[in-house]
Amino acid sequence: MTASRGVGDLLAMEGSHPDHVITFDKSKGCYVSRSVGVLLGVFFVSALVVTGLLVFYYAPQKRDLHHESLLLSSTQVTQSTERKPIMGRRRSSNSTKIPASARSNGTNKRLAGSRTKVTSTTRAPTILLNTTTEAPLHEEMNVRLPRALKPLHYLVKLQPFISGNFSILGYVEVEMEVLEPTFNITLHIADIITKNETIRVAAVGDLEGLGLKVRKHEYDPERQFYVAHLEEALQQSHKYVLSMEFLGYLNDQLHGFYRSNYRDADGTEKTLAVTQFQATDARRAFPCFDEPSLKATFEVYLARTTNMSSISNMPIIETIPMEEEGWVWDHYDTSVPMSTYLVAFVVSDFASLTTTTANNHTVFRVWAREPALQQAEYSRLVGPPILTHFEDYFNQSYPLPKQDMIAIPDFSAGAMENWGLITYRETAMLYDPRVSAASNKQYVVAVVAHELAHQWFGNLVTPRWWTDLWLNEGFASYVEYIGINHVEPTWQVMEQFVLNEVQVVFSLDSLESSHPISIPVVHPDEISELFDRISYAKGASIIRMMNHFLTEDTFRKGLSTYLDAFKYGNAEQDDLWEHLTQAAHQDGTLPLDLTVKTIMDTWTLQMGYPVITVERSPDGTSASVSQERFLLVKEGDFKSSEEYKWWVPLTYTGGDDSNFNETRAKVWMKDTETLITIQSLPTKDHWVIFNLQETGYYRVNYDNHNWNLLIQQLLTDHTVIATINRAQIIDDAMNLARADQVAYDTALEVYNYLGQETEYVPWATAINNLAYLKDMFSRTGGYGALKNYLLDILVPLYNMLGFIDSQSDPLLDQYKRQKALTWACELEHQDCLQNAAAIYAHWMNNPDNSSIISPNLKSTVYCHAISVGGEKEWNFAWNKYLKSNVGSEKIRLLSAMGCTKQVWILSRYLEIAFSPDSGIRKQDAFRVFGAVAANEVGRPLAWTFLQDQWDTIFEFYGKAKSRLIKSATSSFNSVQQLKELRLFRREHLQDLESVSRSVQQVIERTKINIAWMTSNYQVIVNWLHKNGYSTKLSNA
Ligand SMILES: [Zn+2]
Repeated sequence: MTASRGVGDLLAMEGSHPDHVITFDKSKGCYVSRSVGVLLGVFFVSALVVTGLLVFYYAPQKRDLHHESLLLSSTQVTQSTERKPIMGRRRSSNSTKIPASARSNGTNKRLAGSRTKVTSTTRAPTILLNTTTEAPLHEEMNVRLPRALKPLHYLVKLQPFISGNFSILGYVEVEMEVLEPTFNITLHIADIITKNETIRVAAVGDLEGLGLKVRKHEYDPERQFYVAHLEEALQQSHKYVLSMEFLGYLNDQLHGFYRSNYRDADGTEKTLAVTQFQATDARRAFPCFDEPSLKATFEVYLARTTNMSSISNMPIIETIPMEEEGWVWDHYDTSVPMSTYLVAFVVSDFASLTTTTANNHTVFRVWAREPALQQAEYSRLVGPPILTHFEDYFNQSYPLPKQDMIAIPDFSAGAMENWGLITYRETAMLYDPRVSAASNKQYVVAVVAHELAHQWFGNLVTPRWWTDLWLNEGFASYVEYIGINHVEPTWQVMEQFVLNEVQVVFSLDSLESSHPISIPVVHPDEISELFDRISYAKGASIIRMMNHFLTEDTFRKGLSTYLDAFKYGNAEQDDLWEHLTQAAHQDGTLPLDLTVKTIMDTWTLQMGYPVITVERSPDGTSASVSQERFLLVKEGDFKSSEEYKWWVPLTYTGGDDSNFNETRAKVWMKDTETLITIQSLPTKDHWVIFNLQETGYYRVNYDNHNWNLLIQQLLTDHTVIATINRAQIIDDAMNLARADQVAYDTALEVYNYLGQETEYVPWATAINNLAYLKDMFSRTGGYGALKNYLLDILVPLYNMLGFIDSQSDPLLDQYKRQKALTWACELEHQDCLQNAAAIYAHWMNNPDNSSIISPNLKSTVYCHAISVGGEKEWNFAWNKYLKSNVGSEKIRLLSAMGCTKQVWILSRYLEIAFSPDSGIRKQDAFRVFGAVAANEVGRPLAWTFLQDQWDTIFEFYGKAKSRLIKSATSSFNSVQQLKELRLFRREHLQDLESVSRSVQQVIERTKINIAWMTSNYQVIVNWLHKNGYSTKLSNA
């Protein structure tokens, strides 16, 4: 999957990083959602009152449903609703709020979290996890399927009533092999009503016979199991088929088989049906063995009305008329063996563009709602060459005859890599060059490349269990850059990697409340919490490190043999390490006594990362090098942190004869070594730089003398130092200063050369790091002085780049301009604000002229014109928002409307964002909230709103959204705010359980900010004063 990061995030200045890719419904433990509950209620009543009652009122229906045999009795439903407080709330959606205390009773059977149970795993013996008192304890429950059966083949038939009452008539047959004799067949099931009398188990070879008798049907809602208890045992090595009819429901919760709406060109409301199964939601569409290692082939039939079309993983082999007038069955070819979470279907009236890959192997189609179809042109253009590039890169052909990509109006994640049918949110696949910014274009190609990379890493070879999710996501997140680089070679994306991935995740991974990328998970809540920035960006960063220490050839050779060995199967990280080790030993890129596993276990099984401290001898020619876990604040638990050690690939070069291209480890620092000595360095007049191209996942600190040599080099000729290392020096210096390991005087001196810097990546790094100071200072008396300093840095850049955009400039120049303008306006530089207001006014006077504002400048212009304007400016944006046909334009306007300084408009905006049918899609409500929270005036409002309206917001999503809490509290830095945050957590303990790690991170961040203010605020005020930026009032 791809994160639902916003398109503007590539250039976001707020420094808050959307970490959650997708969060799953908290009520996982219950297998019936409210909507299905209602449907079920209707069923139950109808069973009692009128057996022939037409439940499918709008739906033509041939099969007879025997309501009496519904598997679920009403008592069972009641039970589950009582046991799960969330269900209680969902069930009572039409009633008033339930007090938190009333909701929090009942058992809360949950699973052993990795946070609290480490010793029980064999995987991660070296992890040093902190059991903080603030983390909730989970009870242990095994939710894994029994291993007695192995599914081989599914036949799935679904008839969704898209323009009816959203019910789904379903039929499934699953053929399975018996690995151990058993009396039970256990399948996953959720939000589905089975028809017991249709459930049949028969031996292959005697399918027409009487079959095996089912003694009892059992449900286990906590585990989302259906169990058929048989009278006789299934025999080892024999094959059986279980078949059943069932009833499902097209929900509006963006998971399982769900519905999405949009308005057609003429304003008609249209509905489509689409799936999102990762990680544990295939079971909501049809009963199945819903675990990634239980691969099988799938043969799908989808019923549709003839005015729609359908797509699935494989091509259609035949379309069969149904007895119902106007309906047909689309029958799909049998798939390759694959995991359930990769199955996908879409039934829509969308249009498509078709092309083929250059080698003619693969038919490539892009789909979108008809009015947006031309925006799919860029994806159609870049998709096929990226696919063939990956075939070459992985040395493995793409095995399916076709690849569909479709843009879905309502979509929870950024995109989903379903094999042969990739689904996207619109902003991740559609791009209109006249309307959208360059960053939107990069986002589209990045997501396309990411999902295509998954066709190998994830689809062809799948993690045995979700613990290794990081391997999927880390790989796709790294290889996506290789894909982009192939189709957009001038974009310098390999440089951008450091900015967008390494630096971003460094900041999250420097918290005590971080987590190892490989952690044992069991419960769906834990699985969904894994889809975070750490899994993606740290995974990508350490894979990039590995690529460099192994060298490109060895890395690709190992990958290729690994994919070949495990294709259509499952693997664990150790399997990959083994193949890479073999390749490394063959090629001589690692010593024979060193394995990839030895190295990589220290990066995947323990959290955090090291800072390497380099202290040179008086003559400079040798240095003692030590490693220590990097933490922003060393608190009480730091002692245990001292045990953290890594295998660190040390790369370095010296100022006398620099070479930044040798990214293989010159020296390995072992995980048993705290201090080593390195010889043959240049004499003391020449600097040394460690971590070339920032390919290592570590920070570097130096002695003062070496810092000064680096600062001097930057001032005299910065181009001697590689671009990425200039960014690295800035980022390390500022973060080491934050952590009290380098003086701010030194760190800020690094900034003195910036006037000569022309490259985007160092500039963006510098600005991003200043954002933290700005955030911390924003409500203090020192802000004026800091603002003057920031303007001194940024106004020359602003003046140099100008307010006139050029889309023919190199991409990174466009980004640089956008960054400079955003900041100049944010710092209230008058010229910038006037320009923004004037150009927006010009647009308001010519509302139909969409070319007045260059797409790259829209974010800044919209935001700051609305910020200095009033209701008129805001309402104009709202109307533009409602009318726009382009996803990226819509979310840009949504963000900009959060910039107003009018408190009542902000309040109104928050209110409508979380009400249904407001015109704002559910998936975008967090964006409104985030924009208000990022606004100096809106920040307190957002926090109050979150506290006051918690129940409404929870109801709106049906779960807790950690990103709202993160954005509301991002600049918290006072003891009072920490108190409020803790109180908030206490009051909503139950609701916040599924996002407990994120809440813990927010609390830790607040503590860090408080500590930072105590030790650094005055230091920086003094520095500003010393450097002529004082705004002290005279008192005489
Ligand atoms: Zn992914």
